[in-house]
Amino acid sequence: MRIVFLGPPGAGKGTQSALLVQRLRIPHLSTGDMLRQALIEGTDLGKRADQFMSRGELVPDSVVLGLIADRLDAPDCETGCLFDGFPRTVQQAEALDQVLSKRGTPLDLVLALDVDETELYDRLIQRGRLDDRPEVIQERFKTYVAQTRPLFEYYADRKLLAPIDGAGTPDEVFKRIEAILDRRAE
Ligand code: ADP
Repeated sequence: MRIVFLGPPGAGKGTQSALLVQRLRIPHLSTGDMLRQALIEGTDLGKRADQFMSRGELVPDSVVLGLIADRLDAPDCETGCLFDGFPRTVQQAEALDQVLSKRGTPLDLVLALDVDETELYDRLIQRGRLDDRPEVIQERFKTYVAQTRPLFEYYADRKLLAPIDGAGTPDEVFKRIEAILDRRAE
């Protein structure tokens, strides 16, 4: 099963993704984690990505698409995977569709978390990651609304979109996700 997880910064995608991959036993492909890992390792790619990440901007498609294509070649992705933080633009979504259709393994589902923006801001400030400073957070929200939000419509048009209310505890949110999966399995 191939699933995309959409949602604004701070919506809890990371937390819910971790629960979901455990239940479905598929690998978790987080472009944010991959980019942060590249930075820790001090690779050129990591350093290049950091210039964008530290400003709340998107890393160029060529970088992110390369990471994803390489990762999809690993044998553990054969049975499926969860994309977290990718795609983030319509161009990335189109590229992903192409890569997956070449492999004969299209997307099955797009989970889209919805959370009130003031709540998101509070959650991010508390988390305190390096790119969770107020001015960077504002920029990431702007980037999200302008570039990622259009993907809701993109996937709704393709009958893949499953919206989820992201308010409440992680447990409450995960129950809603499980309900969607159960309904699909019926
Ligand atoms: P969040 O969802 O909280 O913004 P992520 O870990 O998903 O956190 O992303 C952190 C940063 O990494 C983004 O602000 C962006 O700069 C970069 N990034 C992650 N995924 C992508 C992507 N698919 N395309 C471009 N940039 C990305």
